[in-house]
Amino acid sequence: MTRYIFITGGVVSSLGKGLGSAALAALLQARGYKVRLCKLDPYLNVDPGTMSPFQHGEVFVTDDGAETDLDLGHYERFTGVPARKNDNITTGQVYTEVLSKERRGDYLGATIQVIPHITNEIKDFIMEKEGTADFVLCEIGGTVGDIESLPFLEAIRQFGNEVGRERALFIHVTLLPYIPAAGELKTKPTQHSVKELMSYGIRPQILLCRADRPIDEDERNKIALFCNIDREKVIPALDVSSIYEVPLSYHAEGLDHQVMDSFGIKDIANLDLSIWNEIMHSIREPESEVTIGIIGKYTNLADSYKSLNEALIHGGIANHVKVKLKFIEAESFESEDGIGNQLEGVHGILVPGGFGARGTEGKIRAVQYAREKKVPYFGICLGMQMAIIEAARNLCGIKNATSSELSDAGEHIVGLMTEWDQGGKKQAGTDAELGGTMRLGAYPASLTEGSKVNEIYGSNKISERHRHRYEVNINYRKQLEEQGCIFSGLSPDGELPEIVEREDHPWFVGVQFHPELKSKPFDPHPLFVSFIDAATKQSRLV
Ligand code: GLN
Repeated sequence: MTRYIFITGGVVSSLGKGLGSAALAALLQARGYKVRLCKLDPYLNVDPGTMSPFQHGEVFVTDDGAETDLDLGHYERFTGVPARKNDNITTGQVYTEVLSKERRGDYLGATIQVIPHITNEIKDFIMEKEGTADFVLCEIGGTVGDIESLPFLEAIRQFGNEVGRERALFIHVTLLPYIPAAGELKTKPTQHSVKELMSYGIRPQILLCRADRPIDEDERNKIALFCNIDREKVIPALDVSSIYEVPLSYHAEGLDHQVMDSFGIKDIANLDLSIWNEIMHSIREPESEVTIGIIGKYTNLADSYKSLNEALIHGGIANHVKVKLKFIEAESFESEDGIGNQLEGVHGILVPGGFGARGTEGKIRAVQYAREKKVPYFGICLGMQMAIIEAARNLCGIKNATSSELSDAGEHIVGLMTEWDQGGKKQAGTDAELGGTMRLGAYPASLTEGSKVNEIYGSNKISERHRHRYEVNINYRKQLEEQGCIFSGLSPDGELPEIVEREDHPWFVGVQFHPELKSKPFDPHPLFVSFIDAATKQSRLV
């Protein structure tokens, strides 16, 4: 029997509902249950693939090639369950589906309405998870009271009624703001938010109350009384120093017990939190500290590179070092003296994925600095393409080397495969036209026996997730390898360079895929573990 937990949010956005859902799932897993997480997003975009990372944070890519919400990244990092395309649905997808059914005549002439057609489509999305886990946790994006959320709230209300109380639980995440003048946490916004949720017919059984300081008994009692919720089900969710502390702190506040109680589950399985305790031990007591310079375009918002930041932290957990991230605006490297002392004290340089020409000349300079000064370099996707262009320009003497994404002129060392593959052979997802033509999702690669990456992975067959349109032109392989730029990972047909490394450098690796998407705190990605290890060695030199 699958049980369903619906997580809504109130008062303000950015309360960490995604993280909270993921942490609760991790607790249920720690009791031996099989979990599955999904997200309902009320925005109208069909998927976040086209949304600016400035506004929406990173786009998380699944093995099956979907561009999804970054919360699916939290889900995967906390549970280890690979996210799938059908773990995320948006209003845009719901309407697209309903309208195409209408055009096909599937509704047999009926008038199409939000209730029941839109809500049924949403319920079907949830019901499709039946039987796949003991607990399905379903997060509803946005804040209760938003116009866009209404069909989703109506759908989960109906769903809850249909499966019955013993199979559906509603958890509401709220905020208790601290008012310095009054010297206290305020409960009124929470009361209003619960009232709003009840006006849609949903009575939350558990409240997760975010606060920046302990919630005293009076406040807890007051919330319980006014919101008609058991006192022990008003659960403090206080700010913590690391997101990986959240499962431990929720458990300490009794969340998993209250979930069991709400479902009437009596024989509660034992709990094993050892992985989370070990992770927190490594985070709390690091042996040293390293600084990684990230040369990017969205340097003001950590969410734009969410998985990347977490993967670097995971590399730190594995090495027992604290990883400090220094975001550097790539454009600031473009002037003559641009690099200046910005990279002083940086023990590893990372150029992450990115799109468009802005900042790319600066990224190429950062690669040159890392290569010449022998600072560990990790290039991800665009960062690998920049490393290839740098080597082509400065080592192979192809002064106008570039990528067709950056300029029509010049020699295209990086471009669309169709630019050089005249044999009519086409890789799936690679086409001369833009729009829906990205290489997305998991692809296998073969690694050269004895290469650095072969040693790091401990295998010569890997599978990693991609999200890009352009490729390094394999025809330049010989020229680049003569200059020490080794193509140590290729697609199984040998046509697409997936990894390059330098033989004359302590740690220089560029990958065409996004390894950060698969890293977990309890199962850190080997490339990040190795990169942080190299940065730690570098920190001992300087
Ligand atoms: N813009 C590059 C491409 O499309 C790199 C993409 C990325 O870094 N994810 O190939």
